[in-house]
Amino acid sequence: MNDYYKILGVARNASAEDIKKAYYKMAHKYHPDKGGDEKKFKEINEAYQVLSDKDKRAQYDQFGRVFEGAQPGGGPQGGFDFQGFQGMPGFNFEGAGFENLGDLFEEMFGFGSPRRARSKKDLKRGKDIQIEIEASLEDILEGKEKIIILPKLIQCSRCQGTGAEPGSEIEECFSCRGAGQVQQIKKTIFGSVTQNTVCPECQGEGYKPKKPCNVCKGEGRIKGEEEIKIYVPAGADNNQIIKIKGKGGAGRRGGGSGDLYVRIFIKSHPVFQRKGDDLYAVLPISFSQAALGAELEVPTLEKKNIVLKVPAGTESGKILRVSGKGLPHFSSRGSGNLYVVLEIKTPKKLSKKQKELLEKLRQEGI
Ligand SMILES: [Zn+2]
Ligand SMILES: [Zn+2]
Repeated sequence: MNDYYKILGVARNASAEDIKKAYYKMAHKYHPDKGGDEKKFKEINEAYQVLSDKDKRAQYDQFGRVFEGAQPGGGPQGGFDFQGFQGMPGFNFEGAGFENLGDLFEEMFGFGSPRRARSKKDLKRGKDIQIEIEASLEDILEGKEKIIILPKLIQCSRCQGTGAEPGSEIEECFSCRGAGQVQQIKKTIFGSVTQNTVCPECQGEGYKPKKPCNVCKGEGRIKGEEEIKIYVPAGADNNQIIKIKGKGGAGRRGGGSGDLYVRIFIKSHPVFQRKGDDLYAVLPISFSQAALGAELEVPTLEKKNIVLKVPAGTESGKILRVSGKGLPHFSSRGSGNLYVVLEIKTPKKLSKKQKELLEKLRQEGI
């Protein structure tokens, strides 16, 4: 996916005002009604849709990398469409509308902007769903398959998603005569404007079952759940998003399903702290081990202890590196390192003998 900031020609730290100004400029230049490039215009609007919203912008800044290759879920297929845009893949984007853009266009063009009805395909498509799953550091060591039960709209099995009672015919919608759209006249300060809107009777389809399915009441989908396998990849980042195509909500009357976006939440670990692909663990050692040197067992994520050589004369806070015992790199071969932070413990309780020995050490100047 293109960089929204580049599309609008603004810096990553641009203010809301700068973004708005840049958008005005670009939208004027590329508006299709003024002979502009429709594709470019669409990109500009998409970019503005996200960057003009504080939350969405923050999400984009954070997750932007993950969206690469993902197509906007509910976006219109052809021609730009103010009403039809269901929002970008991401979180809490649900219901993202173009109301704010509509207002802007009224400001800019005195509402010359065409408000086209959504294409039939978009109308029927199911909703994208966003969920979060937990994974442990052990899970992402080699990657792990997780199975979840996802409550969502599923296809109605009685009518096979058609919305028609088995045996019932499909007939043309009487309200729009099959067009899927009806005209509405809106009075504005500039006079009356005719707008095409989605036919409320057939919801844009142009046809409807003569007898709606008894189970789904003609919707073609019902509330249900689906078992879904999610593969958490090795080396996955915290907050990384996995897109699973077609595993969102079922579409209306056989319309395609939305997509499922899974955000991976990596749980904190009792022993290891993650920094990128490196792991850190604190290893307490005694003063005598630090002073004289020692061979100590150190845990690893693989559950196999390894033996670490602590050199004589080690200071507290010294970090020893165990090459390749961190997490696997997500996008390349190899693994990060394990860093063991040595922490010298000072004994709190001493036996009589220990006290005597320490006294002797003190006399020796240690
Ligand atoms: Zn049904
Ligand atoms: Zn209709």
